Amino acid sequence: FQASMVTPGNVPKLVQHMPLCMRTMQTGLQKDKKLRYHGRLQYGLFLKGAGLSLEDALVFFQRSFSNMTAEQWQKEYSYSIRHTYGKEGQKKSKSAYNCSGIINSQPPSHPGDHHGCPYKEYDSDKLSKLLQSLKIGSTPGDRQAIVNLQKSKHYNLACLEHFKVMHPNQEALKDISVDNIGNHPNAWFRASLAYKE
Ligand code: SF4
Repeated sequence: FQASMVTPGNVPKLVQHMPLCMRTMQTGLQKDKKLRYHGRLQYGLFLKGAGLSLEDALVFFQRSFSNMTAEQWQKEYSYSIRHTYGKEGQKKSKSAYNCSGIINSQPPSHPGDHHGCPYKEYDSDKLSKLLQSLKIGSTPGDRQAIVNLQKSKHYNLACLEHFKVMHPNQEALKDISVDNIGNHPNAWFRASLAYKE
């Protein structure tokens, strides 16, 4: 897997290789044509970790924040993307959040908030409907297995189950590191791309 595979044009097409948190973020971004502070940070750092360069991140987010003038983008938002890459403020380059960082961070509190871990933030009914709408799993039993783990608050295992349902055939999985799936969103993404190759 080449980091250069992730470009401003193909991020939306890579959603099926993303864990539920990041998939939800991309959907929210497309719907609202912007992301609020915590979302920009969580998704921006994930994409950076997936190999999106600063230049490409600026193109991607400006294109996605399509309801505003170039001036508004420059004034209010481009700074925070540059900040994510350590080019503003204290100039410290940040790493992508791991799952416990996401699960334990400030929960979404506004209808425009799409950050956080859906396994923690959604009730099982909402999760079940989301899995169905995304056509995750070939049978209702596949989805139920994910929901059951979420109900017992095993968010990381629910996330791993999502990965297994989306990437059947255990033999192929043997050569792919699933160790960090449910611990880091970028591990999910990397393993999913490796499975495809
Ligand atoms: Fe994202 Fe981690 Fe939650 Fe999975 S367990 S949805 S990777 S935060």
